[in-house]
Amino acid sequence: MKKFKRIAIANRGEVAVRIIHACDEMGIETVLLHSEADVQTRAYRMATKKVCIGPASTAESYLNIPANVNGALAGGADAVHPGFGFLSENADFAEACEKAGLIFIGPSPKATRTLGDKVSCKEIAKKLGLPLVPGYEGENQSVAVLLQEAEKIGFPVIVKAAAGGGGRGMKVLKSAGEARELIESAQREAHSAFGSPKVFLEKYLDHAKHIEFQIFGDASGKVVHLQDRECSVQRRHQKIIEEALSPSLSIEQRRVMGESAVRLAEQVGYRGAGTVEFLLQDGKYYLLEVNTRLQVEHTVTEMVMGVDLVKAQILTAQGEPIFSDRQLVAPRGHSIECRIYAENPYQGGVPSTGLLGRVQWPEGPGRRFEYGFEDGDVITSFYDSMIAKVIVWDESRVRTIQKMKQVLRDSVVFGVHTNIPYLMEILSHPEFVQGTMTTKFIENHFSEPLRIPDLTADELQFAEASWRQLKPQTVTAGEESILSPWTSYWRGI
Ligand code: ADP
Repeated sequence: MKKFKRIAIANRGEVAVRIIHACDEMGIETVLLHSEADVQTRAYRMATKKVCIGPASTAESYLNIPANVNGALAGGADAVHPGFGFLSENADFAEACEKAGLIFIGPSPKATRTLGDKVSCKEIAKKLGLPLVPGYEGENQSVAVLLQEAEKIGFPVIVKAAAGGGGRGMKVLKSAGEARELIESAQREAHSAFGSPKVFLEKYLDHAKHIEFQIFGDASGKVVHLQDRECSVQRRHQKIIEEALSPSLSIEQRRVMGESAVRLAEQVGYRGAGTVEFLLQDGKYYLLEVNTRLQVEHTVTEMVMGVDLVKAQILTAQGEPIFSDRQLVAPRGHSIECRIYAENPYQGGVPSTGLLGRVQWPEGPGRRFEYGFEDGDVITSFYDSMIAKVIVWDESRVRTIQKMKQVLRDSVVFGVHTNIPYLMEILSHPEFVQGTMTTKFIENHFSEPLRIPDLTADELQFAEASWRQLKPQTVTAGEESILSPWTSYWRGI
């Protein structure tokens, strides 16, 4: 068992901060491997050491394996935490770290290759007898064969990049008429985004819920699951709001799905944190994929299960058993996470960039704020637009929703637009409140941009007064015209 002295963080933004918090509490130093564009960020201010690994472009910095390995070595780290996104599911990176004498905090490269690859994961699941969405995963990638297979499966069909992720490279084929063009465009997209044009087909489940299980393999070899999360609120196949536990599972479904998730992970001797994703439709569940890393929404599991998954990852990488000698607690209460995106909800969610004015998160019981940027930091267009996560916990789902609405109402983000007004609408929608939402929820109910609210004279006056007060620190010459008080900040109106 080797205790780490210093961990390199191959990531940025709020997840880098999350990892630094865990390391600080464990008495471990940190080295932030950052791009030139990320000097003025919260993680940069918090890390023990910083090493610049390249320019803003992700290909040259956050996705550059040699730059990250060399940066970690230069910073004197003995282990690397990849966070999520970027290189977190890249087995070549894990191997390169190990070759350089650095411990990669995550599953083995072999586990990542077998479970992280959607097609090989399905093969293992098939052998175990887990339910899969009917589909085609064959080697023959000619458009004619794919078309034939799509016909066999029956429309609607979803075409996905075999090497894909993050909701990209996916297209829904509604009918034979549009299938050829969409398959060809999916192949092109897969090639340019993931370096391989290989695609596969699945029956498109058009009223399914997204439900996933948090799995964890500790250093003793024991694999457990830490219950489920529901992430059905998605836009373009990307999650916006997540919660634990799912409001939709029966005790029996939870037991069976949880056991399936653990069996799958056991097949590859899974080590560390991972997520087994399922779709649930008409009472039947289907395996979707496995993410071999920490998940953005790990927070809601932590809140209801009383665990710290990042510390658990670090302890596991150090070789310490966690779960073998400990009875896992039952879930308590309910937790919801809202992803805060810097985007304009009044213009269909176009990314919003610029200098942040005041940023204020309303502290209080059962509230947790994970953020990567503070007053005076700049949101650039180089990276994902998620700038923060708001997580709340309460005793019941109803109270958790009430708390989340209050917390968002009291949050202040000046300088860029955020999706907060949009989140408020979602949280009030009867389908969400009842917990019956499916992955089509946003498409069905929120396909139009939000309308700019009509403000009362009092609200307008308040908005303008607050704006004027903050203006000197937020607006630089020439920018004034694009910032109007009621659309470019959020303050409870
Ligand atoms: P990624 O790795 O890009 O996140 P996933 O396979 O996990 O891709 O799917 C992401 C989302 O896309 C799912 O949560 C779901 O909303 C939708 N999706 C994927 N496959 C199907 C399917 N067969 N039927 C319906 N929706 C699907």
